[in-house]
Amino acid sequence: LLLCFLVSFSEAEYRKYKDPKVPLNRRIKDLMSRMTLEEKIGQMTQLERSVATPEAMTKYFIGSVLSGGGSVPAEKASAETWVKMVNQIQNAALSTPLGIPMIYGIDAVHGHNNVYNATIFPHNVGLGVTRDPVLIKKIGEATALEVRATGIPYVFAPCIAVCRDPRWGRCYESYSEDPKIVKTMTEIIPGLQGDIPGNSRKGTPFVAGKNKVAACAKHFVGDGGTTKGINENNTVISYKGLLGIHMPAYYDSVIKGVSTVMISYTSWNGKKMHANRDLVTGYLKNKLRFRGFVISDWQGIDRITSPPHANYSYSVEAGVSAGIDMIMVPYNFTEFIDDLTFQVKNNIIPISRIDDAVARILRVKFTMGLFENPLADLSLINQLGSKEHRELAREAVRKSLVLLKNGKYANKPLLPLPKKASKVLVAGSHADNLGNQCGGWTITWQGLSGSDLTTGTTILDGIKQTVDPATEVVYNENPDANFIKSNKFSYAIVIVGEKPYAETFGDSLNLTIAEPGPSTITNVCGSIQCVVVLVTGRPVVIQPYLSKIDALVAAWLPGTEGQGVADVLYGDFEFTGKLARTWFKTVDQLPMNVGDKHYDPLFPFGFGLTTNLTKY
Ligand code: BGC
Repeated sequence: LLLCFLVSFSEAEYRKYKDPKVPLNRRIKDLMSRMTLEEKIGQMTQLERSVATPEAMTKYFIGSVLSGGGSVPAEKASAETWVKMVNQIQNAALSTPLGIPMIYGIDAVHGHNNVYNATIFPHNVGLGVTRDPVLIKKIGEATALEVRATGIPYVFAPCIAVCRDPRWGRCYESYSEDPKIVKTMTEIIPGLQGDIPGNSRKGTPFVAGKNKVAACAKHFVGDGGTTKGINENNTVISYKGLLGIHMPAYYDSVIKGVSTVMISYTSWNGKKMHANRDLVTGYLKNKLRFRGFVISDWQGIDRITSPPHANYSYSVEAGVSAGIDMIMVPYNFTEFIDDLTFQVKNNIIPISRIDDAVARILRVKFTMGLFENPLADLSLINQLGSKEHRELAREAVRKSLVLLKNGKYANKPLLPLPKKASKVLVAGSHADNLGNQCGGWTITWQGLSGSDLTTGTTILDGIKQTVDPATEVVYNENPDANFIKSNKFSYAIVIVGEKPYAETFGDSLNLTIAEPGPSTITNVCGSIQCVVVLVTGRPVVIQPYLSKIDALVAAWLPGTEGQGVADVLYGDFEFTGKLARTWFKTVDQLPMNVGDKHYDPLFPFGFGLTTNLTKY
């Protein structure tokens, strides 16, 4: 018995780092004192889930796994499937001698958007319009619950880019062109992670427990400022400009305890951010005192050279020395591991840099309780796409709408629309298309045009639900002149916009509405009183059609709860949204942001009508 006691006592002693009562820094120190170089480098390595086999996880002591760009286990996979998959990978990590849990990350950038049946919130471009920190915090809370429902503890969100040029295909991932609004919206971080305790040290990562997730402020820094909005390109701006426009939201994120920060593919004045030691280590870690971990973007270190991967050893050295702690490799992981190991063994990269990286990664894992609760269960399964979350998303949709024009019709402004009418025409490629409504980063990386990608309510569904039962709603995606003439419509709602896109593929120099949107507007609005609802990730060319349009609403990318649009069109709720972006007249004015010397917008930043105060 005594022997048993002694054995289990020494066992407990050996596992001191596993005791949650031991102070955090001592747990980190204790664990690190037991780790080999291989185990340390494994912690710094993040694999794509398709290569994260149990063999890879155990042989290389892998510290993290991701679902890259919407890599889902199977189409329409259930929460059970996700939990099973994540737990399988976790069990492999836990079976290693030290049993360090891996951390699984995913792009939940507007709700848990890779997962079938999850609540999809409006993209950030719409949320910025609300300027509502209470709302965004609730969205963070709901997203955390839905993500945890599938067994995942880490999200690559929020994107706190300050998009200065709508030609950038990621502009919809940005809350605003105005740094103050982006700062306000970092309130999503305590929503995702929980409120930091009052006495916590500045910059210390914090995640409140099993119902919360670690967040990631991205992409550090200046991602939204590239020339002509070209993705992954160069941001030309003074140091003062960088600090004044692109940095403020990082300051707030760090104060709010953000666990991780992702580095931007972009360069600042010609220098790749993934190799920028002054900003990553000097500014973020030393000056802002960020104590969570810094993660690279997807193959971000490869892209330090042009062409990518041209000199991998150089890239590994430059990235790790800059201060990147975890590398989203994500496929050729043995090459990365071998290279980094060689460089440490040959004193090219000092072991102190590796220790700093590993301590930061472990700090996040310990703080969030991953050692105590590494495995997921199905206790939160009812949270996925719950009624409450969909209600919240619907509220967010309502608050994100901006009324840009409200012309006169029968001596009254057209909006709010009358619920009682004999026959109403609903037209346009975006009226009954959930995929178009959700945009990119939905189920797949680039998004999917179509209506059956997930569950939700289209704007057309919402309109039908809202009108008087006696009102006939006629839907025709692109009606011709004859169709319009042969029906006696009371009014028309034309819903058009951009087709889904995400990074790289979304860059656009002309910013036009997808075909046949322009002719749908011209055909319908030329003959019937019409309201045009734009479903787009950014301001688009609208001036040429404006004189024909009686009322105009920007709905951005509202997500799965299209009912929210109908709620406001029909006056159950007032328009409260104010533009968080400048609406240009012509693309040759771009870039044009509030505060610029030559500011001549179609609709200025901050603009937004209400229906009872409309001047026309
Ligand atoms: C994007 C990131 C994203 C990552 C993982 C990259 O291409 O730039 O925003 O988090 O992929 O999917």
